Amino acid sequence: MKGYVHSFESLAAVDGDGLRYGVFLAGCPLRCVYCHNPDTWTVGAGQSFEASELVKKIARYRSYFGERGGVTFSGGEPLLQAEWLCEVAELLRNEGIGYVLDTSGGVPLTEAVRTLLAGAQGILLDLKFPDEESYRRYTGRGISETLAMLDYLESIGKETRIRIVVVPGINDSEDALERYLVHLRGKNCVSEVELLGFHTMGFHKYEALGIENRLSGTAALDPAKKDRLQAFVNAQLNK
Ligand code: SF4
Repeated sequence: MKGYVHSFESLAAVDGDGLRYGVFLAGCPLRCVYCHNPDTWTVGAGQSFEASELVKKIARYRSYFGERGGVTFSGGEPLLQAEWLCEVAELLRNEGIGYVLDTSGGVPLTEAVRTLLAGAQGILLDLKFPDEESYRRYTGRGISETLAMLDYLESIGKETRIRIVVVPGINDSEDALERYLVHLRGKNCVSEVELLGFHTMGFHKYEALGIENRLSGTAALDPAKKDRLQAFVNAQLNK
């Protein structure tokens, strides 16, 4: 079986603890209105790898990982290729290399997905929008799969960092964020809720790909406002 990778990021500022190698898998079932990587949406646009080929590439960086580092699978949506990623994870385990999953949760909780979640060093879970209506309006899919994944992560006690993108005019207020927090209060698996400010750095990709950019008239989030909202979220969750 082959998997499809959009791009790599070598030991740079990729998400997760420690020094990490970023693998961005191709393909995504969502169409987030604020996506800055629309070039990752199509699986077939990626470069194909056998699991063993990918692990060989990752293992070259092993000496940099230390105890807390490893590889971060992002995308696109890494769990869209869960069967293949299970093969990769098995080989990584044999090499003693850990992995973090950066996911939207927008996939069914198949056996392969559960196996990958359970075997990860930690999970970065994006909570795109707080309810069915807004989730559908701004991502094209419903919220139930993401909430089911959060419940599963809680049931297995897997450390999970939640990320929320804050977009001016959509969810840049305490009232708007409160609607996300109802899903997060009391969840012991949630170690942190991180707000990410909307930015416009991906706009040129929409033009290049000929895709409509629904936020073309929206400015980047003011960093000071993001900091104020982050303080609100932290206070609400006692983090
Ligand atoms: S889940 Fe990520 S890659 Fe997919 S559309 Fe949303 S922001 Fe883009």
